[in-house]
This record gives sequence, C-alpha cells and structure tokens, in this order.
Amino acid sequence: MSCDEQKLDKLKALHLILLGAPGSGKGTQAGYLKNNWQLLHISTGDILRAEVRADSELGREAKAYMESGELVPDDLIIRMMEERLKSIGDANGYILDGFPRTVAQAEALDNMLARIVHKLDCVVNLEVADTELIRRLTGRRVCSSCGAVFHVDTMQPKVAGICDNCGDKLIQRKDDQLDAIINRLEVYKAQTMPLIEYYQARKMLVTIDGTIGVPQVAESIRQAVSGGL
Ligand code: AMP
Repeated sequence: MSCDEQKLDKLKALHLILLGAPGSGKGTQAGYLKNNWQLLHISTGDILRAEVRADSELGREAKAYMESGELVPDDLIIRMMEERLKSIGDANGYILDGFPRTVAQAEALDNMLARIVHKLDCVVNLEVADTELIRRLTGRRVCSSCGAVFHVDTMQPKVAGICDNCGDKLIQRKDDQLDAIINRLEVYKAQTMPLIEYYQARKMLVTIDGTIGVPQVAESIRQAVSGGL
C-alpha cells in the first residue's frame, strides 16, 4: 500500500467532533469530509428533524425545543446517541456534528466511547463572528425532502425555491427565523462554549477560522488531523 493510501485508510477511521455556533459550517464541512474521507456524518439536528417528520415519540418531545432554538434535554439526546454509536462497526470513522452540545453530553460521550472502545481523535472548533452567522442563517433555505442546503444570496438554486438535487420545495427552517437565531446563539454561548475549555484541557481542540472558504477550511482540518498520521 502506498503512503497516500495508508494515510487515506487512517483518515477513514477517524473519530472527529465538529464544534461551532449554529451557522458556522459544521454541516457543510461534515458533508465535504464525508465525501472525501468516507467518514460517516452523524448530525443530531438531522436525526432529530427526521424524528419530527416521522412524528415519533422522540420527535414529538423534541419539536417545541427545536423550533424555539432551545436545546433538547440531555437525557433524550444521550440515549439517542448511545443507540446510534453502538450501531457503528469498528471499521467506520465518523464526524459528530452538533453533538456534544453541553458538558453533560461531553461527559456522557466520553463514557460511551470508553465502552465501545472508540478513541476520539480531534475536536475541530469552527470560529465565525456573530454578524456572519446571522447573515448565513437568515438566508439559509433547505430542501423539505432531502435536506440540501442553499442560501438566498450565496448559493442560489438553479430554479428559485426548488431543490437542485431532488426538485422538491425549499423552505426556511422555523429555527432560522431571527428570534430563534438570536436564542440559538445565546444558548450556544451559555451551554456549548464551555466545551471549548473542556476539550482544550484534554489537548484535543483545534480552532479554525470558519470564514476562509469551504475547501480551505477542509484543508485546515486535514492538516490538523494529519499531524499524527
Ligand atoms: P442543528 O441542526 O444542529 O442546528 O440542530 C437543530 C436543533 O436540534 C437545535 O437547535 C436543538 O434544538 C436540537 N439539537 C441538535 N443537537 C442537539 C444536542 N446535541 N443537544 C440538544 N439539542 C440538540
């Protein structure tokens, strides 16, 4: 096996966390890394939205929290993620997008990973100023069927209001309306930002400027995680 193939093999087995405020580009980066490194993309927001669409018990419990920009209670999220992580084999690496979001979730994740013997390789913190986050989130439109993401200014679909991928309608998420966005940013500062210190203390944190362009951010992440490969 060539050196590059060996490196790709190691990238495929990575366990990463993407941290960052709503709108910092976690989902976009996770999609990019998933395609390039064949990692699984595990987004708690996407899992919860699918539960809401399916009108499951979890979806019904989570819906009001999500629409107002509050966090879904830790016990529900931890149980959901325990199930999800247990179902992943050892061969697959993954990117956690939107989890953990509280110190209690981070502690629960440490315990889960210890039980399933997965080692956390790196926590990437995407840094973006509030004004840019608000611009990104207020202009975001998502496909009601496949979840593809567009922006009214910077990533317009070919036909206005219609998804390029599946032809379904684009909508604005309820939590992408300004009141909910402001709440989400406050919740992020109060409940999720303490994780920066949590992972800094464990020497796992790498902070990357989230405004330098999608491929550039991905390349910075690659450099950060490749150090030890
Ligand atoms: P996201 O798509 O990651 O912005 O998540 C959308 C919403 O789902 C959040 O505003 C929360 O209401 C909920 N959510 C997602 N992940 C979590 C989590 N780890 N803990 C609590 N709530 C979450």
